[in-house]
Amino acid sequence: MAQISLTFPDGAQRSYPAGVTPAEVAASIAPGLAKKAISAQVDGAHWDLAWPIPADAKIAINTMTDALPALELIRHDLAHIMARAVQELWPDVRVTIGPVRDEGWFYDFDRSEPFMPEDLGAIEARMKAIINARDPIRTELWDRARARTHYEAAGEPYKLELLDRIPADQDIRMYWHGAWQDLCRGPHLQHTGQVPADAFRLTHVAGAYWLGDASRPMLQRIYGVAFRNRDDLKAHLTMLEEAAKRDHRKLGREMDLFHLQEEAPGMVFWHPNGWQIWRGLEDYMRRRLGRAGYREIRTPQVVDRVLWEKSGHWEAYREHMFLVEVDEEGQKDKRINALKPMNCPCHVQVYNQGLKSYRDLPLRLAEFGSCHRYESSGSMHGLMRVRGFTQDDAHIFCTVDQLEQECIDFIALLSSIYHDLGFAKFDIKLSTRPDVRVGSDAVWDTAENALAKAIEKGGYPYTINPGDGAFYGPKLDFKLTDAIGREWQCGTFQADWNTPLRLEAEYVGEDGAKHTPVMLHRAILGSFERFIGILIENYAGKLPFWLAARQVVVASIVSDADAYVAEVVAALRAVGVRTEGDVRNEKINYKVREHSVGKVPVILAIGMQEVAGRSVSVRRLGEQRVEVQSLEGAVAALAAEATPPDLRGT
Ligand SMILES: [Zn+2]
Ligand SMILES: [Zn+2]
Repeated sequence: MAQISLTFPDGAQRSYPAGVTPAEVAASIAPGLAKKAISAQVDGAHWDLAWPIPADAKIAINTMTDALPALELIRHDLAHIMARAVQELWPDVRVTIGPVRDEGWFYDFDRSEPFMPEDLGAIEARMKAIINARDPIRTELWDRARARTHYEAAGEPYKLELLDRIPADQDIRMYWHGAWQDLCRGPHLQHTGQVPADAFRLTHVAGAYWLGDASRPMLQRIYGVAFRNRDDLKAHLTMLEEAAKRDHRKLGREMDLFHLQEEAPGMVFWHPNGWQIWRGLEDYMRRRLGRAGYREIRTPQVVDRVLWEKSGHWEAYREHMFLVEVDEEGQKDKRINALKPMNCPCHVQVYNQGLKSYRDLPLRLAEFGSCHRYESSGSMHGLMRVRGFTQDDAHIFCTVDQLEQECIDFIALLSSIYHDLGFAKFDIKLSTRPDVRVGSDAVWDTAENALAKAIEKGGYPYTINPGDGAFYGPKLDFKLTDAIGREWQCGTFQADWNTPLRLEAEYVGEDGAKHTPVMLHRAILGSFERFIGILIENYAGKLPFWLAARQVVVASIVSDADAYVAEVVAALRAVGVRTEGDVRNEKINYKVREHSVGKVPVILAIGMQEVAGRSVSVRRLGEQRVEVQSLEGAVAALAAEATPPDLRGT
């Protein structure tokens, strides 16, 4: 029999018969490893222990200590085990597909009755029984006709449809978890007992159309989460509970910040409280950008398709664009415009006004640019994913030589802004040249080096994502970590030598000849909508005092104090503290409770004692303690606290 050579991670090479399986390889090393093995990496591909290895390859045997393959297999096997459990409990249920996602998996079922919350408990119990049975998992390649006959006999129409979607040149692979069979690409674990029985949980059921198509049947999707051990599951469930408490949609209602409605899906109606937070953030960003040498501009919302054709968006981005048709005076045909999905082409139009010389560079044009992009209704989510949004956008036009310094300055600005907004930790990812790209290798070398050097000079750790850059240039992504450990990608910095070329941006160089500048697309918050959503959830609604919409409520305890309440309100407003009076004929505890739900950071309670002493009783959100201060003292302290971080003299 032909021999093949397998190379192990430590560099050792061993000879095996061609077609050896990783299970056999593991057994040849140590019986313990054969037992612990869950899968293998064969030339980088995730490989089932039962799949033959046809030729020379690099091999690594995976065990549960290898987090990525372990989690993928646990979640994937659980999808099969769940489908088996459901069909054992309700044999009339038709199965469809069940992919791995985020921290778990889901599986879509066709069943006439809805799944009830108590059904999830029954399914979980059955799944645990399947795991404890340690049923072997095995696989076979079938030909199409056999698979077709099998699924026709089993009455599984969805599987038949999936079968037809598998390209003709691809194998049809079957997997068995015990006697339960499913069409699947694999890989899978050795037996069901390798799945930890105490580290998964079914979380919820939701409706989902078959293949995401609203004209196809509505299925029931059961979601689960799974980890390698019970502690990881517990930590995740605690995080979910915490996240639900902080949900910006719930807090948005309680704090009266914004709403969404059917007539404008994915576009936010900001209420006074929410808009105040927005303006506080926008004013802050405007000051920071101004000091960093940016010039603010404003460009049109509605722009003729001609410009989008020129920029390439019409071809590449058309399905995400909102169109606006108008009967232009004296024109036979309607004029077709698009709501801008991004600001870049408009910024080049501003740049292109008047001849630019190298002395004008770098030119930093900023816009709080309102954009619209069509998103499917299923993908929208509160403020986090919307159709109408405002970016803290800016484009820097510069030479390739200026790229590194611009990048250094940008990261320093971003870091300082994240710090001011309460995010100490962020990660940087550098994405390098993809296979399909424009520009010479020399330009890519210079730009990638400039970005890497800029990060290193700032002393930041970063990871490289090879090949993940845009076709027009390398990019940096910035991910911040919130108070409950979730990561949010917000900032971006992208070099682009394609757009300026397409839209004919030029400058006259020192040599007197015309050159094309590099355009840097950069954002720090990403969008105001999403960032405010992140802020609300990060702070669980208890925003820093300077950002809070209503900073102080002055609440009367008795009506005889009303005049003094008005005086306190006026004194605070005079020094710029956003203050409201509450002289309703309600108990002070009722008022405190209501304003606490509204997340007002400071409540000043005013009774006759305060009137007599010209004092205030200060109660802070979330604290029981009440501190009596003189009116002047309280006003001065609150005015200082209301000052945004960039305006505080330190
Ligand atoms: Zn599968
Ligand atoms: Zn841009």
